[in-house]
Amino acid sequence: MRLASWRLPLMNWFSVMTLAGVANSQQAPANPPPDERFKADILVIAPHPDDESTIAGYLAKAVLDEHRRVAVVVTTRGDAGQNLVGYEQARSLAEIREIETRQALASIGITNVWFLRAPDTWARDISDVLRSLETSNHGSSLGEAVRFIRLTRPEVVITMLPATVVGENHEDHQAAAVIATEAFDLAGDPTWFPEQVATSEDHLWYGNLMEGLRTWQPKKLYYYTDASHFDFVKGKGPEYSMTAVSPSQRVSYARLAAKELSFHRTQYGDDPAKALATNNLRDYEQPLPFVLAKSLVGGAVIGDIMAGVGSGKIPFAPVRGYRPPENSAGLSMELGEGWAFYRRFYPAHNLDVMPGLLPPEVGVGSGSHFPVQLLLHNSTDKPVTFHLRTQLPPGWSVDSTSEEHSHPWPMSAFTVGAQDDIGVRIRLVAPRIEKSQWQTITWTADAEGHEIGPVSLRVFVGGQ
Ligand SMILES: [Zn+2]
Repeated sequence: MRLASWRLPLMNWFSVMTLAGVANSQQAPANPPPDERFKADILVIAPHPDDESTIAGYLAKAVLDEHRRVAVVVTTRGDAGQNLVGYEQARSLAEIREIETRQALASIGITNVWFLRAPDTWARDISDVLRSLETSNHGSSLGEAVRFIRLTRPEVVITMLPATVVGENHEDHQAAAVIATEAFDLAGDPTWFPEQVATSEDHLWYGNLMEGLRTWQPKKLYYYTDASHFDFVKGKGPEYSMTAVSPSQRVSYARLAAKELSFHRTQYGDDPAKALATNNLRDYEQPLPFVLAKSLVGGAVIGDIMAGVGSGKIPFAPVRGYRPPENSAGLSMELGEGWAFYRRFYPAHNLDVMPGLLPPEVGVGSGSHFPVQLLLHNSTDKPVTFHLRTQLPPGWSVDSTSEEHSHPWPMSAFTVGAQDDIGVRIRLVAPRIEKSQWQTITWTADAEGHEIGPVSLRVFVGGQ
């Protein structure tokens, strides 16, 4: 609704008249420059309050010692978490965690912080990125992430690893990574969320719905991981020492990271403060590795995050997008859910480092029951029955399978219609073991006399 001029408050009416007069007398350009207060060198897109803390040591170095401008977008507000300080939960906890995050980041000089307010999901048996993309209202969150890239115009975007890993492996972490990667690839394209980049009707007047942002192509994309093992990221990007001393602060980056984390009291209570007081900073002193997901300006894979980014705008760099497999005839089988999605997502977004980064893996507890989905594809013109075989290490068992007609385990039969796919859900039971170990489960199938597979999943079974 546009207010009639006589309904405007006196001060507004006065200021509008004044501004209009200034604009006329100085021949102001039609398009004022983007607001420099929000320009960032680095935009971090993190999933929960405290996930920015994982890289707080690096962010402190970038801001306090290299004078980089860093902005942070947090996709959720951590409303599903615990509260070590008081009784406040759910929505009230989100209000608290938002402030904790702002105070934490302010301690290392970062104040441009936004929240997308996607719900914090509580992961079930195995994290699946697709569940979190659903609860995040994927399209809406993506539009917001694109807006923040266009508003902050970062040279570098940093987010978490879009992959299933053994470790915390939270599905919200993966969803933030997917959304950040998509936003990196779309913010420079004016046909995506065009209302954001349309020139506002009259920016000195009220009620404009065109946002007046500019398209923006970031130059480099980096991932960090919540995995419990870092072997697979070695040499895939830079690694930063946390025992190094900040020249401007004269304390280690580990100490600055612990201080940043100390503001997240609903999650960590007084532990970080005690670590600081007793100088017991071992938990913060591990080297911090990143994966270079892609660079549009070249440079060494293990080079510094800000190396070679320059300061100018670069042209939009379209990614190759989804391409159907060239050899899609016949019968095939693959791991479903997040794994099937990532197989298509990585090449579509030019993430050439990702397909070979690590084989499909998952971590489960000793004796736990958990489901795995297999996708059976039939690209022929007639129905085909797959005879599926699950090869398990000693001590494992199959709890149940989703099926129409089955033979006694370990062989089950599934009929897939012509030009169709089905998802088979197999519920597995891990052995009870004393000592943690890696084990491998393999599936093969016979169909129409063809051997299909193998498809393997390595499982880290935690000891009791
Ligand atoms: Zn998290």
